[in-house]
Amino acid sequence: MPTFQEAFGDVSAALAQHFGRPPSHFEGLEPFEAMIAVLLERKAGQTRWKAALEGLGAAGLLVPERLAEVEIIEIRDAVREKGPILSAKALAPLRHLARWLVEHHGGRVDSLFNPDRSTGWLRGELAAIKGIGMTDADALLLFALKRPSYRVDRATYRVLVRHGWLDPTATYDEARDALVDQAADQADTLEEDAAADLAELAHGMEQLGRQFCRAAAPHCDGCPLEGLLPEGGPRGGDD
Ligand code: SF4
Repeated sequence: MPTFQEAFGDVSAALAQHFGRPPSHFEGLEPFEAMIAVLLERKAGQTRWKAALEGLGAAGLLVPERLAEVEIIEIRDAVREKGPILSAKALAPLRHLARWLVEHHGGRVDSLFNPDRSTGWLRGELAAIKGIGMTDADALLLFALKRPSYRVDRATYRVLVRHGWLDPTATYDEARDALVDQAADQADTLEEDAAADLAELAHGMEQLGRQFCRAAAPHCDGCPLEGLLPEGGPRGGDD
């Protein structure tokens, strides 16, 4: 059975061939809008985040300085105007993120693209913002800031464990680092290439988890990774 390092290129290629390129959800958004969109997608879901973002835009709240100073109830009402009803708890991280940007970066998202600020440093900063943990930080880095990171979802975890590429006791960071390190190796250290590869991989893994590698049981027949199964079939990896 190939090691994860040996198989990484084949996994990426098989998923890209089967599931295609990821949808460009956040293309065309300004960087701050994209960061808020990523958080809204996590809070409101894939079908409702766009309406929520439109509500914030219509209320003039897609500006860090404005979002940082308004009351949560105003944010909630703006979202509800065009989108879902979200709780104050779900919306508070948006304001915390805006405040962090204003207080530490003069409200300028472009400061986060500065290559002198490493992805690891930025990850720690984002994850330390109230209401934004490591998983949100990884999603923000990859999808809004185009940095090489990865939000390890349950589908990715199942696939890696069932193929014997990840120990079932591995921590979130160990799983995330294994993926990011392999993408960096493949991309020959070009950060933007590694980020694009990881975004494509995330899309493929998500689809794989829905269509083949389900939580209850894997459906390996016809799966794009069937040829990379370990001897004897999948290993335990149920949620
Ligand atoms: S369904 Fe089977 S072949 Fe496909 S990823 Fe899961 S364990 Fe691998």
